[in-house]
Amino acid sequence: MIKVGIVGYGTIGKRIADAIKLQKDMQLIGVTGHSYNYRMEIANKKKIPIYVLGDNADFKENGISSAGNMKDLLNAVDIIMDCTPKKIGKENKEKFYVPNKVKAIFQGGEKDAVADVSFTAQCNYKEALNKDYIRVVSCNTTGLCRTLSAIDKKFGVENVSATMIRRGADPWDIKHGPINAVVPVLELPSHHGPDVRTVLHDMEIFTTALSVPTTLMHLHTLTCDMKEAVNVDDVIDTWKDTTRVRLVRNAEKVRSTAEIMELAKEIGRPRGDMPEICIWEETIGTYKKKLLYIQAIHQESDVVPENIDAIRAATGFEDAEKSIKMTNESLEIK
Ligand code: NAD
Repeated sequence: MIKVGIVGYGTIGKRIADAIKLQKDMQLIGVTGHSYNYRMEIANKKKIPIYVLGDNADFKENGISSAGNMKDLLNAVDIIMDCTPKKIGKENKEKFYVPNKVKAIFQGGEKDAVADVSFTAQCNYKEALNKDYIRVVSCNTTGLCRTLSAIDKKFGVENVSATMIRRGADPWDIKHGPINAVVPVLELPSHHGPDVRTVLHDMEIFTTALSVPTTLMHLHTLTCDMKEAVNVDDVIDTWKDTTRVRLVRNAEKVRSTAEIMELAKEIGRPRGDMPEICIWEETIGTYKKKLLYIQAIHQESDVVPENIDAIRAATGFEDAEKSIKMTNESLEIK
């Protein structure tokens, strides 16, 4: 059993915690409690040990006992999933993980330099084998890597230009926005293109981005110059065969991010999550050697299976396909 600890029990951390509990080869040792809140109450109800950081008066007052401090958690685990807000992962690495010689997986809010390798399981699992520090790339980069790597392998992609239309904030988040504006990223390229190249090192990709007042999902529009002209049906078949990618159809009245989220609830996904990248079949088209498509990314969940595979890669499980299959079966995803 791989013993796993989670530092940062928020949007991503709580989902990874539940996913770890579903793995036959992993044991969730505990999560850190940074401040008392409803998430801590739920973790406590789920009988997840909570390692309280700093002052634990609020926890005590509310009947939650601490399993120990950070040092105790580090001593009890083989690997840490750092799911703290951006930049804190880097600080934690220097302060805790390196001095205590504990492996760690970081999230996409950290710069790629935080880790030995940036990671998307179906693209570069082998590169991450036995590495001490792995960064699972952001939700947007994960989505780009999954769909682009499949068509690059099959047909060859010359270059890509893509625009990320980003959700303003996560659904629970009352502090970020915009709530009444479309906000372009005023730099070119946006950071997503260079980030894709930390995983798909040879992918020629240029990205722009903007934020909009919605919380549900991100949406990407992509134009790929292919090495040769491609046939739409062949492209559809390729993505049908690609793990963690799902084709959705206007024909089924799945016409928007709202309907994708509703679909996720209807198929019984925990929290209404959709970890697969959703491509609208009717948006896949060609013009000369160009291939165009539109995809939607559920930012809160697409990186969860990646984190599970990253744990296996870091701890020396060699078979990428088997790891992906184990993860997919446990989470009941494609
Ligand atoms: P979040 O704000 O939902 O959760 C962060 C958690 O870390 C909170 O529980 C907070 O209390 C805790 N925390 C804060 N400071 C801490 C500290 N010093 N030590 C320990 N815990 C601390 O954040 P999130 O959205 O889960 O993001 C975490 C990481 O995942 C970031 O790198 C982010 O960029 C990345 N990410 C987020 C999303 C998303 O859509 N939310 C998607 C993909 C990747």
